[in-house]
Amino acid sequence: MKIPRFTLPILLLTLTACALSQASAPQAAPTPTTVRVIQSTPVPTLNRERQPIASPPPAATPTADTCQQTPDAPTTQHIITADLDYTNRSLIVQQRIHYINRTPESLTALEVHIRPNSTTEVFILDTVSLSPSGAANYELTGQRLTIALPEPLQPGCSQQIELGFKVHVPPIDLSSDNAYQGYLGYSPRQMNLGQWLPVMAVHQDAGWVNNREIPIGEQEVLETADWDVTLTVTHAPDNLRIAAPGAILDNNPGHWHSTLTQARDFSLSLGEGFQMASQHTASGVKIEVYSYDDAILQTDAGPINSAAFALDSAVKSVDMYTDLFGAYPYERLVIVQGDFPDGMEFSGIVFVGGEYFRSFGGPTSYLMLITVHEISHQWWYARVGSDQARYPWLDEALATYSEYVFIEEFYPGLKEWWWEFRVERFAPEGFVDETVYDFNSRRAYINAVYLRGVQMLHDLRDNLGTEVFFGWLRRYADAGAGQLMTPDDLWGLLTPAQFQQTAITRQSYLKTPQITLSATQTSS
Ligand SMILES: [Zn+2]
Repeated sequence: MKIPRFTLPILLLTLTACALSQASAPQAAPTPTTVRVIQSTPVPTLNRERQPIASPPPAATPTADTCQQTPDAPTTQHIITADLDYTNRSLIVQQRIHYINRTPESLTALEVHIRPNSTTEVFILDTVSLSPSGAANYELTGQRLTIALPEPLQPGCSQQIELGFKVHVPPIDLSSDNAYQGYLGYSPRQMNLGQWLPVMAVHQDAGWVNNREIPIGEQEVLETADWDVTLTVTHAPDNLRIAAPGAILDNNPGHWHSTLTQARDFSLSLGEGFQMASQHTASGVKIEVYSYDDAILQTDAGPINSAAFALDSAVKSVDMYTDLFGAYPYERLVIVQGDFPDGMEFSGIVFVGGEYFRSFGGPTSYLMLITVHEISHQWWYARVGSDQARYPWLDEALATYSEYVFIEEFYPGLKEWWWEFRVERFAPEGFVDETVYDFNSRRAYINAVYLRGVQMLHDLRDNLGTEVFFGWLRRYADAGAGQLMTPDDLWGLLTPAQFQQTAITRQSYLKTPQITLSATQTSS
């Protein structure tokens, strides 16, 4: 496909994104409570009445202070052993985090980000210890776990953290405004574990990033890490099937083991009666779609399998985005028919709302758009990371524009339909470059960040020409692979002359259109 052969459609645009249909007033986030634990003397393994880690894979580095890390060793490795009681939708988890201090300063404390602790009664922290020093002093406030180090961790040195905790997965409440967060929730036939595990916070500008959680957009800032996850499942029906990313090393009844490298999260889904259909892309990526019987629609013309259509769209889009934006980061891509509204992206796995399958009526229904949108986040999230609270347009405008690019290539007759259906009917307004904290409603947020965002990208393509525009995005995807990128990084990949060509467009869409490019940026 190379640069798609689109004729330049004039600059009318359209669009939406992950949380497309949620336009109602957001609910207040829960007030965080603080748990502070100061250990007077080291307490080795006192509180561990739960199962010992069965046969833990060896840590890459045995001690905390070898300080001889090779440059290509992963900054963070997670080794997780979890016991899932499926009937109770609860997990007992041991997580070992091996962290290398890649910052230029010595660290007196480490910060762990615990997404599931943003909701009360979901996450229960039992133990925090450091290896080899033992039980640690720590403080947990909302999603932020701060662990004091007995002595500073010097640059290049590593530290091992051991966490013991429980996760009580909440039911998906479809009547709630926050039903779209069912990626960590269960329905009568499905249990989703999206962002259920603690991750290392990102250390930037001499501090730890800790974005406040609000019910608009996403607030995560995630660096890549290597994951090794073993799951033991009890009290589960025979037809329970696991949909998970990574290299599956063990998949026997009740016992499952997977590894995933360079991933910003490790998320999975378990479904009763999941059907799985798969196909390889031209580049060899195995695409798997997990769906239910209700994805097969009975029509006067006979049954229509909407999951098969989603699989076909997925294969086409992965091949196309690989050509345009570079290699897909993993060997497999898992797509799950989610029992919650909208879609959601994770590393190597995406959810697409079941309603989109059940209401499928051809390429002009949401199923195709949401599927390729979430898949494009494998480039604009999993491959190229960014601060989703400060710069939400960086991934969401690009993901939404990736829908349009797909339409141009495979359904060129639908280009005008797409702009109208996705963008223009919402009469979007607002600045593209605002943070998630600048909006009072999800609708306003989507209109500005996603919809004005794709309008801006389309105008930029008009300013630069199609070939230069996609060459620019490709350089951004290459430079950002495995990194966290900022808007300055993106703009800095234009030459000074190209940057100047975009002046009027930046003026039209951005609150801060004047970016001062550094010498290093403009030289690239
Ligand atoms: Zn999105």
